[in-house]
Amino acid sequence: MNYSIAVIPGDGIGPEIITEAKKVLDKIGNNFGHKFQYTEVLMGGVSIDATGVPLTDEALETAKKSDSVLLGAVGGNVGQSNWYSLPPNLRPEAGLLAIRKGLGLFANLRPAVLFDELKSACPLKDEIIGKGFDFVVVRELTGGLYFGDRKTFEENGLRKAIDTLVYDENEIRRIAKWAFEIAGKRNKKVCSVDKANVIDTSRLWRQVVKEVSADYPDIELTDMLVDNCAMQIVKDPKQFDVILTENMFGDILSDEASMVTGSIGMLASASLGDTKLGLYEPSHGSAPDIAGQNKANPIATILSAAMMLRYSFDLTEEADSIENAVKTVLKKGYRTIDIMSEGNTLVGTKEMGDYIVAEL
Ligand code: NAD
Repeated sequence: MNYSIAVIPGDGIGPEIITEAKKVLDKIGNNFGHKFQYTEVLMGGVSIDATGVPLTDEALETAKKSDSVLLGAVGGNVGQSNWYSLPPNLRPEAGLLAIRKGLGLFANLRPAVLFDELKSACPLKDEIIGKGFDFVVVRELTGGLYFGDRKTFEENGLRKAIDTLVYDENEIRRIAKWAFEIAGKRNKKVCSVDKANVIDTSRLWRQVVKEVSADYPDIELTDMLVDNCAMQIVKDPKQFDVILTENMFGDILSDEASMVTGSIGMLASASLGDTKLGLYEPSHGSAPDIAGQNKANPIATILSAAMMLRYSFDLTEEADSIENAVKTVLKKGYRTIDIMSEGNTLVGTKEMGDYIVAEL
C-alpha cells in the first residue's frame, strides 16, 4: 500500500528525531511492501522565520490532504528566543493548537509503558512495578473546563472567577468509541474515569460511556473516580489497559502516567479525530538545550510512528515489529544520554536510529 505522510520536523531536536523515525518507516516499507511518501510541512519557529506565522493555511491544507501527520516538536528557548516576543497567537506553540483544531482532533492518546530494561528510571518501588506496565490514557481534548465560558469579575467588592465545564453526549460518545476501539487492539479493558459522585458532567459521562459499551461486548468496562485513579496509578499501574477520561482529568492523569515511566525521551503520543487521519508526536518538547548535538533520544518519535501504523493505517504487525526492535535494542544495552545508566553503552541520536533499523 501507499501512504502519504505530512512530516513536520519543527524546531530544536525535531529535525534530528524525525530523520530517525523516517529511517525506521522506510525499513518497514521495504520489509512489508509499503511505500511511505513524505511531504515536509513547516510549523513552529521555522515557519515563523520563513512566513511570519507558525502555521500557514497552505501547510494546514497539506496536512489535511495526507493520510497522517508525524510531528517532531516545536518551540525554542522561551527565555532567549525572539519568537517569544511575538503575541501568543503568533508564537511557535500556536501552530500546534492551530493544527489540532484544523484537523478536528479531539482524542489524545498517551501510552505509559515501562520497559523492563528501564525499570531503574521508574520512581516506583520494585514490588509495585513487577514485570512493568503498559497502559494508555485516552483524553478528551476539545471540550470540558478548558473550553467553557469563563470570566473574572468583582461582586460587592469581592473578586470572583467562574469557569464552566460543559460536555454534550456526542462529545462523550465519540471519545468513548475511540477508547473501546483502542482497547480492542490491546487487552480489552476500558476504565472510565470521572467524578460522578459530585459533578453532573461526570454523571452524564458515565451514562453515555455505558451506552457506547453495549456496542463492544468483548471489552470490559469499569468506572473509577478520578481521585482514586490518581492513587491507583502509583499504587498498582499494572491494573490498567485503557484509561478513558475528560479533558482536565486527562491532562493531569496523563502527566502522572508519564512520570511513573521515568523517561520523557521514550513517550509517544497521538491525537485523533473522526477519521483515520491522526497527528503523532513525542510527548516531549523541542529540547533546545541539546538540539543539533546528536544527543536526543529518538525513541519517543519512533514509537509515535509505530502508533501511526497501528491506529491510522491498521498495520498491526508492522507496529509490533517496531516496538519489538526498540525493546531488543534496549535489551542489548544501547542508551541515549537521557536513559543512560551504568553498564550500558552510550549512543547518539543517529546511532540509536541505526540500531533500531538493524533489528527490523
Ligand atoms: P522539553 O521536553 O523540550 O525538555 C525538557 C528536558 O528534557 C530538557 O532537559 C531536554 O533536554 C530533555 N529532553 C526532552 N526530550 C528529550 C529527548 N528526546 N532526548 C533527550 N532528552 C530530552 O521541554 P521544555 O524544555 O519545557 O520545552 C522546550 C521547548 O519545547 C519550549 O519551547 C516548549 O514550548 C516546547 N514544547 C513543545 C512541545 C511540542 O512540540 N509538542 C511540547 C512541550 C514543549
